[in-house]
Amino acid sequence: MDFNYIFLQEFGYILAAILFIFGLKMLGQESSAARGNLVSSIGMFLAILVTVTNIINPILVLVAILLGGSIGALFALRVKMTSIPEMVALFNGFGGLSSFFLAWSEFTSTSEINILILITSLTVFIGGVTFSGSVIAFLKLSESLKSSPVFLDKFSRVFLITSFIYLGFFTVTVLLDLFNFGPNLLAVNDGFIVLLIVSILAGIFFVLPIGGGDMPVVISLLNSLSGVAAAFAGIVISNTALIVAGCLVGASGLVLTLIMAKSMNRSLYNIFFVGYAAPKGDAQEVSGEVKPISAEDSFLILESASSVLVVPGYGMAVAQAQHVVKELGDLLEENGCEINFGIHPVAGRMPGHMNVLLAEANVPYDNLLEPKDINPKMSTVDVVLVIGANDVVNPSATEQPGSPIYGMPIIEVHKAKTVIILKRSMSSGFAGVQNPLFFKENSRMLFGDAKESISKLVAEFKD
Ligand code: NDP
Repeated sequence: MDFNYIFLQEFGYILAAILFIFGLKMLGQESSAARGNLVSSIGMFLAILVTVTNIINPILVLVAILLGGSIGALFALRVKMTSIPEMVALFNGFGGLSSFFLAWSEFTSTSEINILILITSLTVFIGGVTFSGSVIAFLKLSESLKSSPVFLDKFSRVFLITSFIYLGFFTVTVLLDLFNFGPNLLAVNDGFIVLLIVSILAGIFFVLPIGGGDMPVVISLLNSLSGVAAAFAGIVISNTALIVAGCLVGASGLVLTLIMAKSMNRSLYNIFFVGYAAPKGDAQEVSGEVKPISAEDSFLILESASSVLVVPGYGMAVAQAQHVVKELGDLLEENGCEINFGIHPVAGRMPGHMNVLLAEANVPYDNLLEPKDINPKMSTVDVVLVIGANDVVNPSATEQPGSPIYGMPIIEVHKAKTVIILKRSMSSGFAGVQNPLFFKENSRMLFGDAKESISKLVAEFKD
């Protein structure tokens, strides 16, 4: 390859990396997010273009891109909003699988043992774990796989530790071979084949014991791992764009994982290796009376309110109520009422779930408030409409030390003057914890599907 070509190729990759970084930065703000997506996409297009021109059979690669792209687009167009976490899990898995295959093929084409084999092995290990772990996460989220028996959970933990020990053993084997320190513990080739199998099994046994509810955090971590595997794969094949893109995915996925854990006030160790504890003592007991309310009476309360806070949760996503929620908000505003939306970072089933739904319904971003902004003013809010949210407004997180969610930051809606809770039944939320909010003096339960209940409120306002 002549010098000019290599220079042009590296220049193209650096330009692509700059576009990735600027695109990612622009995603941080709603006003620039769409452009950020476009900028990153142009970066990726440039990186692909530079890579394809360097390949002996570009037609084959372009056909593969077209085929893979069409399948991906078809899936993305058909997927329901509530199933997006499952789709993300699968996509992460395929990212891991491609790094796994790439490193495997590099290993088989290497004729002598060199230090790069250690990176190749790490790529295979992380890629394999990401792939099989993501498939298990997908099966758990789609409820095709229920929780596993306790003995299997214990076996899984032991296997995971064993797989790390094997990775260490294999590394030592390669180093011994490399520096000609005998005895050669295991032929490196055979050891590598075992590593391929171990990595796939490690992913399965890593995710198997984790509760279905913690899958979004697992997916975020697997997303980060798919980036790390891609960055290592980039080192293996000396591809600058792959290294940069992999590092960006790895770092941003890790930041997201930590944000999710912090929002639940749980450590990563607790999420991945312990799970939600059973409530202790009288934490499940609640006192007070449930007071159902009709849509007509809810309308009368809302009509006379001068400030309303909407707190959406997973139920709004299930009911697909975001458009009627926006319509109700507009009607309240026309009625002279101040309307805001309280968004908890882990409301729903994926980070930013509520933001995406409300953006789809054109709710202005300026009206979305974080718990730290809204909680200090809560006592001045006339009415809070809790729409299909449960855990994120559960006061036992602040009031009952024995509760499994004790310490989780919540939106303190129970401190508002009146709270109207829209849900279908008295069932608990995702964490399986009873909610004392429903029994508070200032709470009213508007039972039914959230979309139907809000449509009734909208109809009342229009009458
Ligand atoms: P929850 O899962 O706590 O509660 C959702 C509520 O919605 C349920 O109580 C359900 O009650 C109600 N609901 C369901 N369908 C409808 C419907 N059609 N109409 C009206 N109500 C409905 O959701 P939250 O958003 O409050 O909390 C999210 C939970 O997910 C937290 O525990 C969080 O830790 C966890 N989590 C979130 C992650 C994220 O990234 N967002 C990641 C990992 C975990 P009913 O059946 O009676 O209608």
